[in-house]
Amino acid sequence: MSFKARVLVTGAGGFIGHHLTSFLVDQGYWVRGVDVKTPEYEPTRAHEFELRDLTRFDSCLAAVRGVDEVYGLAANMGGIGFIETHKAEIVRDNTLINLQTIEAARIHGVSRYLYTSSACIYPGYKQKSADVAPLREEDAYPADPEDGYGWEKLYMERVCRHYTEDFGLETRVVRFHNIFGPLGTYEGGREKSPAAICRKVALATSGDSIEVWGDGLQTRSYCYIDDCVQGIFRLMRSEHREPLNLGQDRLISINELVDMVAKIAGKKIGRTHDLTAPQGVRGRNSDNTKLREVLGWEPQVSLEAGLELAYRWIAGELVRTGRTVPGL
Ligand code: NAD
Repeated sequence: MSFKARVLVTGAGGFIGHHLTSFLVDQGYWVRGVDVKTPEYEPTRAHEFELRDLTRFDSCLAAVRGVDEVYGLAANMGGIGFIETHKAEIVRDNTLINLQTIEAARIHGVSRYLYTSSACIYPGYKQKSADVAPLREEDAYPADPEDGYGWEKLYMERVCRHYTEDFGLETRVVRFHNIFGPLGTYEGGREKSPAAICRKVALATSGDSIEVWGDGLQTRSYCYIDDCVQGIFRLMRSEHREPLNLGQDRLISINELVDMVAKIAGKKIGRTHDLTAPQGVRGRNSDNTKLREVLGWEPQVSLEAGLELAYRWIAGELVRTGRTVPGL
C-alpha cells in the first residue's frame, strides 16, 4: 500500500492527538503515534504506536526516525484547575518535550513540523472583561501570557520561528481556543469546563444544582474536535508560517454553557458558585479573520451540535463505568 507521507503524531494517546491520528490515517498517511500512555477510551488506529517519554532526548530521536512530518501534540496539561497549580512541572516537562522534539526533527531532516500553541499565550491585559474583543494573532505582544503553561507556549512559538529562519525547517504554529468533544478527559482533575459541566449535569437529577467555578459570568469560545483536526490539517498543508488562531468565535458565559448542557440533557439544573475556585481570564474569544483568509475555511460545527455529541458520550461513559445517570 502506498501512503501520502510518513508522519509522527506526538501525544497520540491524548484527546486531540488521538482524533488527529484517525483523521490522518483516513487521509492516506502512514502514522506513528507516540505517547507515555495509550488512548484511554478506544484503541489507536496508528500504524505504529510507541510508548515513549519525550522529556528524554533519546526518546525524541527514536520517535522521529524515518518520518517526513511531525505533529507535536504531546504536553503535560489540563484545564484551569490543573495549569494554575502545576506551573513548574508544566514548564519543565513541556520545554523538554518540545525543544527536544523539534531538535530531533531537525537532526532527522523532517520537512514540516507542527507546534500546538494555545490561546493562553495572549496577554492578561487584553482579557479583563467578559465582553472582551476577539484576540487577533498580533495581540500576543507586548507579552503577558498565562503563567507557566502560557509562557512555555509563547517561548516555543519563537523557537519554531528561529528553526525556520536559521535551519530552514518549515514550522506551523496553531493557537487552539478550548477544544472539546468525545474522547476528551472528563474527570480526575485535568478536565476542561465543557467536559466538567457535562459530567456534573449528567450525574445530577433534574431540580439539583451543580457547582460552577467563579460567578459563571466569565466568557470563552469553544471549538468542536472535528473542526480542530480539519483546521490542523489545512494549516499544515498551507504555506502560512506565522501563528494562527484555531477556534470558534462565538463568545458564551459559563452560566450559559451550563444552561445549554442542561437543555441537551433535558434537566432543570440550578447553579451554586464557588468564588474561590480558579477561573482564568475574565473573557477570551478568537478573532478568525486571519484563519478565514489563510485557510479559506472556518470551524463549521455549532456549539449546540458539538455539546450534544460530547454530552451523550460522557453520559455513556459514566454509565459504562458504573455510575447512575438520572434520566438516561
Ligand atoms: P491531552 O492531555 O489529552 O494530550 C496530551 C498528551 O501528551 C497526553 O496523552 C499525554 O500523555 C502526552 N504526554 C504528556 N507528557 C508526555 C511525555 N513526557 N512524553 C510523551 N507524551 C506525553 O491534551 P490535548 O487536549 O490533546 O492537547 C494537545 C495539544 O494541544 C497540547 O500541546 C496542548 O497544550 C494543546 N492545546 C490544547 C487545548 C485544548 O483545548 N484541548 C487548548 C490549547 C492548546
